[in-house]
Amino acid sequence: MKAMKINPHLEAMKMLDEAIALSTRPASDFEFLRQAEREICVRLNFQRDDGRWTQALGYRVQHSSDLGPYKGGLRYHPEVEIEELRALAFWMSLKTAILGLPLGGGKGGIAVDPSLYSASELARLTRAFVEAIHLDIGPDRDIPAPDVNTNAQTMAVFADAYGKLNAAYEPAVVTGKPLAIGGSLGRHEATGLGVISALKSALATAGRSIEGCRIIVQGTGNVGAIAALEALRLGAMIVGVSNTTGSFYAPEGISPELLKLLLESAAAGASVQLAVLEGAGAKRLSTPEFLSQAADVLIPAALENQIDLDVADVLQADFVIEGANGPCTQEADRRLFERGVVVVPDVLANAGGVLVSYYEWVQNRQRDVWSRDLVLERMAAKLESAYQDLLEIQASYEKKGQKIRLREAAYLSAIHRIVEAHELRLG
Ligand code: NAD
Repeated sequence: MKAMKINPHLEAMKMLDEAIALSTRPASDFEFLRQAEREICVRLNFQRDDGRWTQALGYRVQHSSDLGPYKGGLRYHPEVEIEELRALAFWMSLKTAILGLPLGGGKGGIAVDPSLYSASELARLTRAFVEAIHLDIGPDRDIPAPDVNTNAQTMAVFADAYGKLNAAYEPAVVTGKPLAIGGSLGRHEATGLGVISALKSALATAGRSIEGCRIIVQGTGNVGAIAALEALRLGAMIVGVSNTTGSFYAPEGISPELLKLLLESAAAGASVQLAVLEGAGAKRLSTPEFLSQAADVLIPAALENQIDLDVADVLQADFVIEGANGPCTQEADRRLFERGVVVVPDVLANAGGVLVSYYEWVQNRQRDVWSRDLVLERMAAKLESAYQDLLEIQASYEKKGQKIRLREAAYLSAIHRIVEAHELRLG
């Protein structure tokens, strides 16, 4: 029998329910968070290189603008669908709220397999998307960014198309742009570095250090590759790494030289074949086996719902740092907590991306350019203070005799901030 696909929005709503149950406010105050303010679905017509026209569905879910313009990525993936985007847009609202940013949450995507199209076909697809949604986005309305299978180049075309429709180039309409056209120094590596900054905070709380830590990383994209490289730089050992070409594990650690070579080209956007790791002594495993191998830390940095209850029961890492959005199901998150595994939730662990996106937007609006050091120092300080806020919320519940998860603390912090803004606006 085929396993039932987990609905990410239902998972997100289960997590919301748990947070609401912990709040002293009535549940009805939070009801509006279950629905997005607006959902856009458009048929996109774009031309193939041979002149034929073809179609794809594009979406933008604008969840909450209570705290400011919608902010969130755009993914190009064959499995993009509305329920997934609803969850991702909701999580973006939480992320910006936890960080105290003047931004709301949104997410979008196109249901397409980008590997089937040339670069020029994908550029035409992006332009068709901008034409279809340009009235609903903008620097004060909704600011997209890269996500799965989109990158700085996609954002360059996006910003160009938007500028042409408005007869003026406005870099602040998207973030994650190339440096030459208004991108921010540090944005490319922000999410991966933020993941490691969250890991260091979690390790420090437990009186441990990253040096010598044995880490498994799922996904070698922008987030996974950069997080793994930073972990190696700080003296950690990568014992497992995976992407769509396979999952590889070596208990004694995978050759850092070979890994660096592969990960540097992955971090630069190349698709890398990991099978060469077998030659270097790593074993190829199925995804659930891979995720539950012996390690100190697991960094899921691929897609949603990778860690379900079955994996959570046997997972051996002491820390799970959620580089991806929604990699743990709600039941799995609960089980990991019962088993004493520290899970740093996505809404904080991968928030470095949106934080530096915000810095990019601020620079664009001020026509300013900040140094890489300034960007990354600000990011690390903000992530650390947000982490300490969550520990304080946990401690305040502990005083009342209730042990709550970091995710519950994160949800509580975010939903209270959004509700407060929502009520002020309603008058
Ligand atoms: P990406 O497209 O650059 O990389 C995704 C990686 O996951 C690729 O290496 C791919 O091969 C791998 N992958 C896909 N399916 C897999 C599977 N079943 N098993 C193993 N590996 C698999 O995407 P990204 O930007 O690195 O994003 C990864 C995750 O991080 C997503 O959940 C995304 O929403 C989240 N995220 C990204 C950013 C960002 O700034 N890029 C910010 C916050 C959150």
